[in-house]
Amino acid sequence: MLPKIAVFAMGGTIAMAGQGARGVTPSLGADALVEAVPQLAEVAAVEAETFRLLPSPEVTIPDLFALADAIEHAVAQGAHGAVVTHGTDTMEETAFVLDRILALDAPVVVTGAMRNPTLAGPDGPANLLNAVRLAAHGPARGLGVMVVMNDEIHAARFVQKAETSNPAAFRSRPLGPLGWFAEGAVRLGGLPGPRHALAVARDAEPVPVALLTVTLGDDGRLIDHALDAGYRGIVMECTGGGHAAHWVADKLVDAAGRVPVVMASRTGAGEMLRRTYDFKGSEIDLLARGLISAGWLDGLKARLLLTLLLMSGADDATIRATFAAWVDPAPAP
Ligand code: ASP
Repeated sequence: MLPKIAVFAMGGTIAMAGQGARGVTPSLGADALVEAVPQLAEVAAVEAETFRLLPSPEVTIPDLFALADAIEHAVAQGAHGAVVTHGTDTMEETAFVLDRILALDAPVVVTGAMRNPTLAGPDGPANLLNAVRLAAHGPARGLGVMVVMNDEIHAARFVQKAETSNPAAFRSRPLGPLGWFAEGAVRLGGLPGPRHALAVARDAEPVPVALLTVTLGDDGRLIDHALDAGYRGIVMECTGGGHAAHWVADKLVDAAGRVPVVMASRTGAGEMLRRTYDFKGSEIDLLARGLISAGWLDGLKARLLLTLLLMSGADDATIRATFAAWVDPAPAP
């Protein structure tokens, strides 16, 4: 008996088609995606559902909470795992959110395509086949949410889209991929590390959290605007390991008196510093004056973690403890 795999189509390039000289738009439902890959029938008993038909910048947190409900339901009905087909633009964010809210051992695999079906060499069918292979793979249980693209397996917590159109657009930082595919076989070479599932009510209202970047010569006025606009948290992508000009630092510290302010690195990878630089606006200064370190989470992921925490009603201490646990799940006494 082949394992049952639930496929949920969300849209994205893998599902895009178009006519004439104009570009492509989301058009293909889940059945069309599955029918295009006859080899799936050798791997799993696939049950496909068109869940949304969106370009992925339009995916929202309520969409993802509804998707999480549907995945849980499919697993409760006997699915061994689930595959989500999705636009690549926000795929890393969807994977990260699902990984934070699903408390499942069943493998959940997000995939998509860089080349749409109208182009020569579309990658969607191969990615979908690999994603189903991984979702049906026994040892993938307990690894949380993963992204499969271009014959590679990435953990939701590390994956990033790093190219606009190259089929090798996805990478994992600070660690590399968890595994790969070879001649149809799943190869798992790493473990993603402990999971931190959050208890967020599925009907909780999304909470706006701004993601800003420190840039040379900027006066930081967007921080004021973010507060005036009603953002309830700020993630600042600082330079390097956690730095800003002292006048921007002062604005961040003022903001931290009103809403949680998390500092990530605009480099997109590497752990934030804690005890190296001590100029005004350095990481030592910003942390001492109330900012929260994103640890090794990039700005996109830190923003989603803060959003989910605020949606869960977490207080300041819980927010700080949760971010701290991401850096070091078992701090030395
Ligand atoms: N370029 C995107 C994709 O890969 C469009 C989107 O994210 O929906 O699907």
